[in-house]
Parts: sequence; structure tokens; C-alpha cells
Amino acid sequence: MSKSLHSGSTRRLFGLLSLRRPEQWQEVSQAAIARCESLVSELLVQPPSVDTIHGLDEISDTICQSYDTAEFCRNVHSCEDWQAAAQQACIKLGGYVHKLNIDEQLYNHLVRALDKHSSAVRGFAAGGVGDSRCVEGYTPEALRVGYTLKHDFEKAGIHLQEDQRSRLTALVDLERRIGMQIGQNLKTPSKLGYLDMDVSGQRKANEQRSKLPLSQGSSSRRVTLDSGTLHSILRKEPYAQQREKAFTAGYSTPRDNVHLLEDLVGTRYEMAQLMGAPSYAHYTLKNATLAGCPEAVESFLLELLAAIQPKVEEEVNILRRYKAKHLGRSTVGLQLDAWDRLFYMRVAQEAECPLDYAATAAHFHAQGCIQGFKELLKAIMGIQIVEMPLEPGEGWAERVQKLALEHEDEGRLGIIYLDLYPRPGKMGGATHFTLQCGRRLRDGSYQEPVVALVCSFGLSSGGLMSPDQAKTLFHEFGHALHSLLSRTEFQHLAGTRGPMDLMEVPSHVVERFANSPAVLKSCMRHHISGRPMGSVMVGDLQRSQGLFDGLNLHQQVVDALVDQRLHGVRGANPASTESIVHDVLQQFSPFSFAQGVTPHARFQHFVGYGAAYFSYPYAMALSSAIWQQYFPDGRMNRASGDHVRQTMLKVGSASEPVAYVEGILGKGHLEPVGCGHKPQIRSLLTELGIT
Ligand SMILES: [Zn+2]
Repeated sequence: MSKSLHSGSTRRLFGLLSLRRPEQWQEVSQAAIARCESLVSELLVQPPSVDTIHGLDEISDTICQSYDTAEFCRNVHSCEDWQAAAQQACIKLGGYVHKLNIDEQLYNHLVRALDKHSSAVRGFAAGGVGDSRCVEGYTPEALRVGYTLKHDFEKAGIHLQEDQRSRLTALVDLERRIGMQIGQNLKTPSKLGYLDMDVSGQRKANEQRSKLPLSQGSSSRRVTLDSGTLHSILRKEPYAQQREKAFTAGYSTPRDNVHLLEDLVGTRYEMAQLMGAPSYAHYTLKNATLAGCPEAVESFLLELLAAIQPKVEEEVNILRRYKAKHLGRSTVGLQLDAWDRLFYMRVAQEAECPLDYAATAAHFHAQGCIQGFKELLKAIMGIQIVEMPLEPGEGWAERVQKLALEHEDEGRLGIIYLDLYPRPGKMGGATHFTLQCGRRLRDGSYQEPVVALVCSFGLSSGGLMSPDQAKTLFHEFGHALHSLLSRTEFQHLAGTRGPMDLMEVPSHVVERFANSPAVLKSCMRHHISGRPMGSVMVGDLQRSQGLFDGLNLHQQVVDALVDQRLHGVRGANPASTESIVHDVLQQFSPFSFAQGVTPHARFQHFVGYGAAYFSYPYAMALSSAIWQQYFPDGRMNRASGDHVRQTMLKVGSASEPVAYVEGILGKGHLEPVGCGHKPQIRSLLTELGIT
């Protein structure tokens, strides 16, 4: 690691905070709390008004800037001391946020500010009698922020008796700690277990296994079962026994996470009970999401599972055919095991849609994909992405990049940091972090949004990505656009701050560009010759990527169903998480269930998306409708890009969920269920070729 990332020269980590040493997280969190305390005092001496809502938003912004940055540092900094110090800051700031959320004085002040407005409105409606000063400034956005904040206070138990409130506080703290531990275990190699793979066998298998690290003085290679390695073995290992060993060993770890998830689900259920909700899913969805209630989610997921079933069966038959061929036997009575899925998907893809992988990958150089996204954004929205130098100490690891977005008329819109490459101890997967939200400041200027995209792309030595990684990168760019192009007055509703089940919609729209013919043909160029991808390669790539669309979606819907059932209503003797997962897989999975495995121990989304993982299939349905309406065939149309920017990205989360969807798509794309809504699935089915 470069010295410039360490003490001494560190001036403004992430461009936001003045931190020279990890211990200074203590001072930063203390300063944020002190600033908030002063804003609280300032707010409470003023009479309740719309300024109360502005004041609360400023308090929330102050605390979020420190908390979000600490959360980011905890997850991505390349130095353990920084991670540990940031984790302490998160715990301290998280505790303070909860204290604010149960502050009765603040809550009562807010309620009076909202009542003042509603009684004036009632007065006008009853015959024009009312104080116009009581409605001035209460814009629809201000009111939505006010009611959302009121909901947040109530969700934290402001109305509970003292003893119940203390219990809730303890549960919230426990939930956060369990969630952190689950994530930590997934980053710790010793928790992920390992597998000794025999390399004394046949030559063909050795070709694959020889890429794995050799354990000392033996004929086996010891493999740590991190998700990338496990995935790679399951895709490439030709011997079923080896795949089974890897699958059962990999999906039985981290063992601690099974117990932690049990505790997490139990803690959340108790929180919901304290709040008078029948389940954690009810508690999470009510008044805060488009879905509104678990009934809408369950109805959507089951409808989608039934509708895609014929396509899933077709794809399963393809896998069965290739397994039979590989084993030299008939398909009759041939069972597909869970460890067959990725292997025969790859085999089928290579046989059905032969691709010259090296030639294709040559068009997906990591920096070339960023360049491709730049060209796309310029074409559809008139926004330029400009590379900026990092100040000394601004980065947190090697090869971090800083990009500024500049609109041709509106000027600079925000900053994206990119941290794309793996390093020891770095979190897996791909994540968008908000470091600073946009909002209108007291002096009339606009606070610049700042985000970071963190991925761990294992690239080829030439820096080449796979087409799937390019899609993931575009997905994360979609989140970044949501945050950076949002122009809400309040930070509380900026960009991705809104309902969880709408948060994934923009990213799902943008990721579709990564394999649209128009973008592939004009933006993705060969990293040496600079020539764009030819039509034949584009066609082959699209067929290959779409071959198992049904099974991939099916997996996501089943995961969402597991998530709902884990967080659903529980009886006196609740079923274990293991048996809930088992039951859903037995009922819906086309693969035989592997006894004793605990795949949920590795599924971190149950932490961050508790009861809201359905947001992904919801986003698939909604983004499919947006895609077909505005970007048919992936055409890079400026008018459509501007429309999507105005109606979806600029709005952030300032609209009510139904109005938001109708604002982009018009009416007829949602169906009411219970006290919520589910998206129509017809566009998605059309996209999947199901009529
Ligand atoms: Zn996402």
C-alpha cells in the first residue's frame, strides 16, 4: 500500500473528512454529535413550522455524512486499524441516531409542525378560514419528508412505554451487531473453510485444478472457499464428486452465520412484536414501500414463479441433456443435483452458443467499459464524465479513481469514486456507497452528491473483465446516477434514500445497456485495436447471456421467497431458518436438495435487505417496462434519456411510490394487493420470450 494512503499525508479521506490517523474517527464522530446537539437546541427554541422539517433534515444530513463515511471506511479501507476505528464510530453514531429517533421533544415538535399545516388546510377547505403562513413553504416534498421522518420516529418506538422502548433500543443495537458479524465472517478466510482437492487424478481435471494453490508436500491443493473460488470450481470442475465436495463444504460455511442468522431473525421478530406488527416483514413494508405488505410480495413472487415455470423447465431440460451426454447415458430418470447447475450451464453455453472468449473479453477491458459508459451517458443525457486527480490522502487503497459528472448546461452534478479491484480483506461483491447526499443548502447552493462504487473484480492479467462483470459495473453506475442526478431539496429523499423496493429500479435499467446491441457495437471497443464489437459477436454474446435467463430469475425469486418466509409470522415454536430454507427449496428448486447444506449462511442480502430482497424481482419487472417503453432494442436515444433523468433520476425519492412509478411509466403497470401494490409482469415475460 502506498504511503500516501497512511498517516501524515492523509488530509481529506474520501474528499470529505479531515482524518490523519484512524483514532481521529473518535473526534469526527464526537464532532458530528456535537454539531447535531447544537442543531437540535436551535430547532427546539423556534416555534414548530416547516423550518422544523428543514432542521431535522439538516440534523439527519450531518449524522449521515459521518455515519455513511464510517460505514464505508469500515467496509473498504485497506488498513485494519482504519476499519476497526471506523467500526467503533459506526456503533457510536448508530447509537446516537437511535437516541434521536426516540427523542420525544423532537417528535412532538415535528408532529405540531405537521398538524399546523393540516389544520390550516382543513380550515381553507371548510370555507377559506385559515392562516396562510401555516401552509407557506410546506411543499409536497417537505410534507413527504415530514411524514417520512414521523414514520421513522414511530418505527423506532417513540410511542412505547419506557421499558419497551429500552428493550427496542437494545434489540436495534443487537441487530446491527449481528449483521456486522455476519458480514465479517464472510470476509474471514478461516470462517469460510477450505477444501483439499485431489490433483493426482486425470489430466483434464488437473488442468483446472493446477490453477489452485498447492498445499505443502501433498498431492492435493488446498482451496479457501471464498465465493469467487467456490463459484469457479462449480463452473469448471468436470468431476461430480469434486463438485459435490466443494458445494457441500462451501455451502456449510460460515457455520457461525447459521446461528447468527437465527438470532437475527429472532431479534427482528421481537422488534416487530414490540411494535405491534404481526411479523418483521409487515413491520418493514408498511407505509415505507411500494409493496406495502407481505401479501403483495408473496402474490407477486408466486405469480412470477408460476409464469416462468415453462421456461425454467425448458432450461432444466437443456441441462439434463448435457449431463446425460457428458455421462454417456440417457436422460430418463436422470436427476440434476445442486452442484450440477453452474457446471452444465457453462457446458451448454459453450456448446449452444460458441463464443470466442478471448476475442470477446478483449472488448471488455475494465477501463474500456468505463469509457463505454462515458459515451453512453454523453449520448443519452448530455453528461460528460471527467477523470480527476486524487488529492494526497483522499484515497483509501491503490488504484482508486475519481470521476466528476458534468452536464452540458447544468454544470457539475457530483462525484463518483471507483474502487474496482480485489485486495486481501476487501469485501466481495459489488456495492454502491453514498458518502454525501445532495440537498439544497441554506445559502441556496446545492450540496454536491458524492458516492463510491466498490467491486472486487478479479480481472485477467491484461485487465479484461467478463461480460457479466461489465453488466455489474453498469448496474452500480445506475445506482451512482440515481444518487448523483437526484435534485431533491432534502437529503432525506435524495437518490437511493427512498423505499427499498424502488431503489433497484434505476440500476436495473442501466445494467441493460451493458449487453444491448447498440452499446456493444458503438461503445465497447477492442482494447488494442480500438475497433467496436462486430454484429456476429454481439449476437453470439447475447444468445449466450440469455440462455438461462429463466433459471437465473427463478433463483432470485426463490431467494426472495426464502427472505419473506424467514421474516414472516412465527408461532410459539418457530421453525428453524434451516428448515424454512429447506422447505422452500424442496418445493420450488428444480435441483435435488443437498442435505446438511446451509446456503443461507452465505447470503448476506438477508442482513441488508431483511424482508425486502423481493426488491430485485420487483425491479426486474419495473425496469423491463421502462426499458421497453424508452429504450427498445437498447437504442441510445437522447429524448428518452432526458425523460428518464427528469421523471426518475431527478425525482430521487421525493414522490410517493405509486406516483413515482406512474410518473415514469404512466398508469396500468401496478396492481393493488391488500394495502400495497405489485408490479405487472407482462413486460418481463415478453422480454423473457414467454407469451
Ligand atoms: Zn443494486
